[in-house]
Amino acid sequence: MLMSLSNIESFVSACKELGLKVTPQRIAVYETLKNRTDHPTVEEIYIDVKEKQPFVSLATVYRTLETLEELGLIRRVAYFGNSVRYDANVSHHHHLICLSCGAISDVELNISWTPPEEIMGYKVNTFGLNLFGICPKCQTKS
Ligand SMILES: [Zn+2]
Ligand SMILES: [Zn+2]
Repeated sequence: MLMSLSNIESFVSACKELGLKVTPQRIAVYETLKNRTDHPTVEEIYIDVKEKQPFVSLATVYRTLETLEELGLIRRVAYFGNSVRYDANVSHHHHLICLSCGAISDVELNISWTPPEEIMGYKVNTFGLNLFGICPKCQTKS
């Protein structure tokens, strides 16, 4: 699956705005993540990127993901028992997490709740709900 041109263009212009050099490897990393909705691990992203950029190293993919995360272009998601996973969806959303295989899916929930700006000394930026359960795939396995 190819990312639409407008997505690449908006990524490139976001990079330029943030003063980040646009390299084919950075585009490939972002494109790979954007095309996946399963919140892949660094290793999974690396395997995909290698198909387009055979000379890319795992270290480069790590660094690129860190840079993109620092710039707010992607998000890092980690849950109990899960390794670090990445998410190109930086808009406010919630997650469904499979307790059996660790799959993570975006889920739209109709929740109108505004978190407090400050609680127990924490300045609150955002909130997200995690729904834990068993995914359809794992249900058919058992
Ligand atoms: Zn599952
Ligand atoms: Zn997500």
